[in-house]
Amino acid sequence: MPEQLSSIAQNLERVRVQIARAAKRAGRSADEIVLVAVSKTFPAEAICAAYDAGMREFGENRVQELEAKRLKLADIGVTWHLIGHLQSNKAKRAAQLFDRVDSVDTPGVAAKLNAAAAEQGKRLPVLIEVHMGGEASKGGVAEAELPALARSVSELANLELRGLMTVPPYSEDLEQVRPYFRQLRALASELGSQLGRPLPVLSMGMSHDFEVAIEEGSTEIRIGTALFGQRNTNGLPRDAAQPEG
Ligand SMILES: *Cc1c(COP(=O)(O)O)cnc(C)c1O
Repeated sequence: MPEQLSSIAQNLERVRVQIARAAKRAGRSADEIVLVAVSKTFPAEAICAAYDAGMREFGENRVQELEAKRLKLADIGVTWHLIGHLQSNKAKRAAQLFDRVDSVDTPGVAAKLNAAAAEQGKRLPVLIEVHMGGEASKGGVAEAELPALARSVSELANLELRGLMTVPPYSEDLEQVRPYFRQLRALASELGSQLGRPLPVLSMGMSHDFEVAIEEGSTEIRIGTALFGQRNTNGLPRDAAQPEG
């Protein structure tokens, strides 16, 4: 087995220890936290290795990339999360390939996903991605527009709004990141009361900041690098180098 694949199980073990530690510090149970393995840019073989190590939730940020990989994966019983910005013209394909869409950020995309899910006779669990910290390049809805988007998503019969997701601005200093996690939690709680039903899922925390996210109430962390190693953006299929999903 290539070295990178054999280390996935060890990496997973290490991440689980860190999850347990962070949960304990926060007086939470590690069972409350779902670990989503972010396999973007890594081949189907890496996904199989993670599956063999016990992973059952996977995140990809691009529709075509998962489409290509799924051809190489036998029908393994895993839950696929779309975690990248979705263009409306790919909503139909996304609703077929993914079990969760964690990155809904416009009413248009929500409507397209809803129509696709209806056509496919299913109800698709979704999260709304919230843009925090004012970095221009990222996806997600602005905080000011979140209540209106949440209301419109919650009215769509074939989408099930389960919570919020965010990618805060990167900082080496985790205390700079912590307020964003705290704010996402507050937003979910406030929206839950406005909508009259809870939004239990908070998808926040990546390889470098997931312990802080857990301390601030994360229920889903999205971990790529700490499980699979550094992503190499060279030598990828041309498709995979494009930014959008
Ligand atoms: C790539 C990605 C991750 C994983 O990032 P790591 O730092 O490698 O853990 C998590 N969330 C989103 C939305 C991503 O695009």
